[in-house]
Amino acid sequence: MSAAIAENLTQVREKIRAACERSGRNYEDVTLIAVSKTKPIEDLQIAYAAGARDFGENKVQEILAKAPAMPTDTRFHMIGHLQRNKVRQVIKPAVLIHSVDSLRLAEQIEQEAARENLIVDILLEVNVAGEESKFGLAPEDVLELVYAVSKFPHVRIRGLMTIAPYVDDPEDNREIFKKLYRLSVDINSKNIDNVTMRVLSMGMTGDYEVAIEEGATMIRVGTGIFGAR
Ligand SMILES: *Cc1c(COP(=O)(O)O)cnc(C)c1O
Repeated sequence: MSAAIAENLTQVREKIRAACERSGRNYEDVTLIAVSKTKPIEDLQIAYAAGARDFGENKVQEILAKAPAMPTDTRFHMIGHLQRNKVRQVIKPAVLIHSVDSLRLAEQIEQEAARENLIVDILLEVNVAGEESKFGLAPEDVLELVYAVSKFPHVRIRGLMTIAPYVDDPEDNREIFKKLYRLSVDINSKNIDNVTMRVLSMGMTGDYEVAIEEGATMIRVGTGIFGAR
């Protein structure tokens, strides 16, 4: 099992490298987030030993349980839907919250961050495909939220995130990734104070190579590293 995780990481990195070469991008500009949700701490430690530093979790409880058991340079990303009553617990242990999709949630983060005298980095989650079952903002609602959150002194928008539909052929998601990229370019062109669009969190095990070709700067890979959940 441990050999598998290290080997999987090597393979994923090779594919990232190849996708970067195909699209004229730098390997260093793509951060691999090892999505370790539901996996035991031993698996994270194996991945850490194989060089992984960024880990993705979708539950606050899991971040709180795992973070103390990992070396201090481990970075935990909150990638799952976040409830307002969990914000207080997650703003310190998480390096980036990928899943902000409402003003109410952003306000809660501002309030808790102010209380702790912290600046919290966030991404806005966009439901590009318009899937009803998914969280995330409709693309046409993103700009309004960007403007509102840009006025919050303790919250900093770093970019956008999307969860693309599950598809058999990753090419089917290329248009989704293109749309998120274009939206980020559009927002960036407005030069809004306190807002940058350097992070595009898109692409999972089934489609991260296509996502990289379309500009992903963070990819979130679970199954491809740790095996089935
Ligand atoms: C589970 C999850 C992933 C990883 O999915 P895999 O298909 O296992 O790579 C990525 N992003 C989010 C938001 C997830 O919840």
